[in-house]
Order: sequence, then structure tokens, then C-alpha cells
Amino acid sequence: MAEVKCEKAKKCGGCQYQGIPYKEQLKKKQKNVQGLLGKFGKVQPIMGMEDPFYYRNKVHAVFDRDKKGNVISGIYEANSHHVVAVEKCFIEDEKSQEIIRTIRDIAKSFKIKIYDEDTGYGLLRHVLIRRGFQTGEIMVVLVLASPILPSKNNFVKYLRQAHPEITTVVINVNDRHTSMVLGEREIPVYGPGYIKDVLCGCTFRISPKSFYQVNPVQTEKLYQTAVNFAGLTGKETVIDAYCGIGTIGLVAARYAGKVIGIELNKDAVRDARVNARENNIKNAEFCQGDAGEFMVSMAQSGQKADVLFMDPPRAGSDKKFLSSVIRQKPEKIVYISCNPVTLKRDLEYLTGHGFQVRKTQPVDMFPFTDDVETVVWLSKGVADSKKIRGEFSL
Ligand code: SAH
Repeated sequence: MAEVKCEKAKKCGGCQYQGIPYKEQLKKKQKNVQGLLGKFGKVQPIMGMEDPFYYRNKVHAVFDRDKKGNVISGIYEANSHHVVAVEKCFIEDEKSQEIIRTIRDIAKSFKIKIYDEDTGYGLLRHVLIRRGFQTGEIMVVLVLASPILPSKNNFVKYLRQAHPEITTVVINVNDRHTSMVLGEREIPVYGPGYIKDVLCGCTFRISPKSFYQVNPVQTEKLYQTAVNFAGLTGKETVIDAYCGIGTIGLVAARYAGKVIGIELNKDAVRDARVNARENNIKNAEFCQGDAGEFMVSMAQSGQKADVLFMDPPRAGSDKKFLSSVIRQKPEKIVYISCNPVTLKRDLEYLTGHGFQVRKTQPVDMFPFTDDVETVVWLSKGVADSKKIRGEFSL
């Protein structure tokens, strides 16, 4: 496999495994997961990528000016607000990077002022691009400090002429002094305001603020593993907690009796409902709210799921959620995690309260970084009183 050398690796800090051969990267991740989760049982060999480059379907660039006043686009230097200009990244989608370079090169001629974080003057703060790898659809999100983009129509026209693959352009207004990239308000200026992509045979609509896995090639392996672990027979009531746009639940729905998805982000829930409809899936419903609260009310009303998929953010789950899982006692839990440290903490709790780890499968979703995704299958087991009860230190 070809070695690459990124000149910006040190300053960017995004790729901790820069310069390490891919096979070695996989070994390191395996060791990491083994070290953290090995005590729960055997860890399966990590699923790697055949071609670990340009895998990210979501590309974010922050805009700034260099000392000479030229427009630059890139990323924040690690732990700072200094922008490192990035000409080429080896893990981000190439087409999306091309579009960002075009925007950088034409900003001045369209009189688009670049936002200055210190003074709060200027307009263009970030550009976010998402590409559906299966559909080819591309969404360009221009994050602006105010809703007015000068010569908007000509700008969009130029951009589409240069890159006919663009299917939608959205202005996102972020007028706050914040490190959050996206603001609340969105104005679609071209196309429907979302893109579609296909995973495991289902079509998904993705809005700018909805979560969508960044490595679609590996996501299919991840979801396949999760659904296999669930071992569905067509009768089960399944919960898809932290469901985003409903991906896991909808992929599982064809093998289950009924799916209930729960998600905090309103836009993602709207996408999930549309996704169920568009895929003609009639046995799935989606609720908006906190997953913990939802599980508590479900446990209180005596309802019970047979299988629980849970895919929380990096911080992992919380006591509210897990304690009601213990009360409900589903037959199976399939825990999908992007952070083995919080996964370990949550597994300690679950295995200390009557669940057993049956299988642990790491998946490399983020080559060149030290992040690793893991799917764990747990089933109801005999509680072992000698086991330490995992406690939260949140
Ligand atoms: N399973 C989805 C999304 C996983 S990312 C997929 O594979 O695409 C985690 C999701 O949890 C995000 O969509 C985030 O908005 C959501 N989330 C974060 N905190 C939450 C909470 N307390 N309750 C419900 N959902 C939450």
C-alpha cells in the first residue's frame, strides 16, 4: 500500500497515525481495544479497509486570511484557534476538497469577506461539504456570520458550473462567538437542502445538522455486524437508541417485528421519519428526546424491548439510560461505540448487573487516526456477585 506524507500532519494533529503503515495502525488499534475490553472476552480481529485513503464523506474547512491577506482554508491547529492552511488532505473526499478550493479561490472576486474571529467582522466562517458516496449527491453548507450573501445567485451559479455534482447549497447562519461550527438557522439557496445516500440497501436523507457516519464503506460492515449480532427472527421489538437519521433501526427493520428509534436532534428525527417512509418501512417509528428519559418511561410503563441497539456519542451512555436497561432486561444488547474508554465503563456497569459480553468486534472507521469503533454483543446472563459493579465517574 502506498505510503503518503502529509506535510501538515504535525500542525493539524488530526492524523495521529501519520507515517505509520496501515497494517501497523490496525495492530495498534487491536492492541488498544484488547487492552481495554479483553477482560470481557475475546476481541475479534479488527475489520480494516482495503483502501484507507479519502474515506471521509464529510469535509469541513475553516476560512481565514494569512498575513498577506490571502484567503486560506484549512483546519484549526490542535488546541488553538490558529488556522493551518490545508491544500490537500489524504483522508477527506477528494471532490469535496476540490469544491472547497474553488470557494477559496473565488471568494475575493465575489466580494465575500472572510470572518475574523478576533474582531467579529466579515462573513464566511466555514464550509462544510457532504457527499453521498453511493448516490454522488453533494451538499455544500456555507456557514456565514449573517444571512446575506452578496451576489448569492451568481456565486451559486458559478459554483454549480464548476462542479455540476453539487445537488444542494445551504446557508447556515452562525452569528455567535463560538467554537461550534454550525448555527441554528438554515437557508437552502439551491436544491432541497439535504442529500441522500444509500447504506445496506436503504436510502437515507441527510440534513446538514443530522449525524451521519463519516466512513460509508466501513459503516456498511459496522451495521452488518450489528444486525448479525442481534440475530433477529422477524418477531422482536427492537430499540435503536441514539439513532441519528434512523440508519441502524431501518436496516434492522426488515428482520424485526417492530423498531422504535430514539434521538435527541430534531432534524435527525425528521430525517429518520422520512427515511422510514421513503424505504417503505412500516414497522418503524421514531421519537425525539433524551434516550435515558425514554428508557425510564418505557421501563415505568412496563414495556419491554427484546433487542436494544445503542450507539451513543463519545461520552458514552449515562446512568439514567443504563439503569433502566437493567430494569427492562432486553434479551440482547448491541452496543456500538466510537470510544472504547467510555465503552469499557458502560460494559463494567452492564456486566456487573446481569449482562454478559458475547462478542466484541472492532471496526476501523477512521484510518490514520487513533479512533476506533467497536460493536459489542451482550446477552442476559447469570449475575456474578463477585464481579465489581461498574460505577460511573461522570
Ligand atoms: N446511530 C446513528 C447515530 C450515532 S451518533 C448512526 O449510526 O448514524 C450518536 C447520536 O446520538 C447523534 O445523532 C446524537 O444527536 C444523538 N444523541 C446525543 N445525545 C443523546 C441523548 N441524550 N439522547 C438521544 N440521542 C442523543
